[in-house]
Amino acid sequence: MTQVSLRNVTKRFGTFTAVDGVSVDIPDGSFVCLLGPSGCGKTTLLRMIAGLEDLSEGELMVGGQSYGEVPAHERNFGMVFQSLALFPHLSVADNISYPLRIRGISKGECRAKAKELLELVQLSGIEDRRIHQLSGGQRQRVAIARGLAIDPQVFLLDEPLSALDANLREHMQIELRNLQRKLGVTTIVVTHDQREAMSMADVVIVMRDGKLQQIGTPMEIYRNPANAFVAGFIGVSNLLKGILDGRRFSLSGAQLDLTPEDIIPDGVAGPAVLSVRPEDITLFAGADGAGPHGRVTFIRDLGASVEILVDLGGAEVTSICSPKSRPDVDIGDEVTLEIHPGRSKVLAA
Ligand code: ATP
Repeated sequence: MTQVSLRNVTKRFGTFTAVDGVSVDIPDGSFVCLLGPSGCGKTTLLRMIAGLEDLSEGELMVGGQSYGEVPAHERNFGMVFQSLALFPHLSVADNISYPLRIRGISKGECRAKAKELLELVQLSGIEDRRIHQLSGGQRQRVAIARGLAIDPQVFLLDEPLSALDANLREHMQIELRNLQRKLGVTTIVVTHDQREAMSMADVVIVMRDGKLQQIGTPMEIYRNPANAFVAGFIGVSNLLKGILDGRRFSLSGAQLDLTPEDIIPDGVAGPAVLSVRPEDITLFAGADGAGPHGRVTFIRDLGASVEILVDLGGAEVTSICSPKSRPDVDIGDEVTLEIHPGRSKVLAA
């Protein structure tokens, strides 16, 4: 079992705290994404797990054992860096088997393992090529294969796909996830791309300013964001200011009666914010409906979906619908919003 547990893990550089009291349990065999904006401490946290940075405070446990004092080279962890860090003067096979060579494994065994890993990452037959002869996607696969060479207990990847263009990146997300499912290795990936995290992860850990904001499945985080930062960072969220009185939420001249399925945390009352996803707002032409009214400011027709931006008297709201259910409205038209019952979360103001 290789559950990875962090207890109050903190990293200070001088007086600056890069990671601030993070406690999480990463289940054995899971695929976890560390997600957050640039500078929030994701890489530093990953490097502490890898043993490349000391912990200033706190405890790291792997498989029930304390790992804080175990040097990086004694941790059976695979690592893929953002830069890939492949050796240009070595062949593909020698790059992949490098971690085995430095552990004293024979040349024959190294060659066999490199061949097996190349098959796994769907690159059979390029053992003898040099790194500069490979495409970006092939290099990425070689780096992943090298990270897996030692049959790691834990596989750590720092922004592994960030150098790839959008299409290849989405393709590699699927490949990486399928590969992890096949191997069952506990995997932790750093990304600042919420879409990437939502596509791949069993569990997403959201960070901001060194602090843990929320941990949960992608859907838990999407449906029940812990705060306005998480609501805005994971997908698009409309954050509507209003007044909460019991289950009644008043905003922009309209009142909504929230249902038991809407999430209202204990202790939130008075001025509050309603977090509503764009697909949970339907627009109707005209201002004679019962819901909040606004004016269309922009229409983004993306082919598969249509996004309509509405000015709600100072607050901008985004609604998404399918082309088939697009309301007959244009920029400048008045619209009435229907907020779908049971799909909102109230956040503290
Ligand atoms: P990015 O997505 O931009 O890589 P990140 O979330 O991975 O960001 P980190 O690289 O972990 O962020 O950095 C967190 C903070 O710690 C940043 O403000 C960074 O400048 C600072 N930091 C990281 N390493 C050091 C260091 N060795 N010395 C001083 N400060 C550091």
